[in-house]
Amino acid sequence: MEIIKKDIRALSKEQLREFFVAQGDQEFRGNQVYEWLWNKGAHKFEDMTNISKQTRQMLEDHFVINHIEVDQMQRSNDGTIKNAVRLHDGLIVESVLIPTKKRTTACVSSQVGCSLDCKFCATSRLKRMRNLNPDEIFDQVVAIDKESRLYFNKPLTNIVFMGMGEPLMNYNNVLKAIDKITSPEGLGMSPKRIVVSTSGVPKMIKKMADDDVKFGLAVSLHSAIDDVRTSIMPFNATFPLADLREALEYWYAKTKNLITYEYVVWDGINDSKKDVEALIQFCKFAPSKVNLIEYNPIDDGQFQQADNAALDMYISMLEANNITVTVRRSRGKDIDAACGQLANKS
Ligand code: SAH
Repeated sequence: MEIIKKDIRALSKEQLREFFVAQGDQEFRGNQVYEWLWNKGAHKFEDMTNISKQTRQMLEDHFVINHIEVDQMQRSNDGTIKNAVRLHDGLIVESVLIPTKKRTTACVSSQVGCSLDCKFCATSRLKRMRNLNPDEIFDQVVAIDKESRLYFNKPLTNIVFMGMGEPLMNYNNVLKAIDKITSPEGLGMSPKRIVVSTSGVPKMIKKMADDDVKFGLAVSLHSAIDDVRTSIMPFNATFPLADLREALEYWYAKTKNLITYEYVVWDGINDSKKDVEALIQFCKFAPSKVNLIEYNPIDDGQFQQADNAALDMYISMLEANNITVTVRRSRGKDIDAACGQLANKS
């Protein structure tokens, strides 16, 4: 009979400690192994050099360490790096390293494919295959940190959950990954440097508030008018703007954190004055920042970036209402690494 070995990174620290006690060893051995797994990013038991050979063999007999492999790395002429990452079962996701003078940001995936159906997003054309495990999210971060040190001589500074998938539809695993990334026994990064981006799942936004999470929230809004939003993000019919707004009010009341909105302005879709007025009405209840993202074409021209006059109208009207606006230029377009372009093409 073939014994199916368990992935050791599915165990909590407590479970690891209990395992060693059950083996007649000491609890602290569990701490040592935990540190190898989550602080030093070990992918092999044989790398755990302060653990005896015999114990390493015993671990080998019981467990595997499933881990990702960077299958292909592409570098853009603006410095952006895209990793195609192979998971232990052969599926592929993508993550992106975005360098700027001051920061290195990792854009990580939370699911293989995506179950949402945003019309303008390349990932939506891959159906959702499965959720990523906490270690698979964690490994993407470690891989990008290594690349940042190697190519830019500095560690990773920020993480955004803006790769493939809807993080709030894999909430538990995203939370566990963030716990390992932020805890002192893990990578020790500040949660303030992490942003989770969602298309807006009201129930889960409330759950995040209840869980008292310390990372930031970004909402991919793109329109504050239900009909328009439903036409480009059909799941809005299930999670309409009134519910989203109520959840965000709840979030703000609990966390007092600024809310970031991601927003693309498209020609003929959301480029009129009434679109901006609706956006202002939607977000002015709390300190907000609107990130105007450049559209990255993915198709035959159904969507086109609005002209500068429309963008200027957004900027001046939002600013007149004390809403912070930033205009985000795309990075890594030449290697299909920009927002909404992740589709396992190469
Ligand atoms: N599902 C989550 C995480 C993905 S983040 C979310 O929707 O927030 C990816 C971001 O890129 C989202 O803000 C999304 O709306 C945006 N996006 C998708 N396709 C795009 C495209 N073709 N051009 C520019 N931005 C796009």
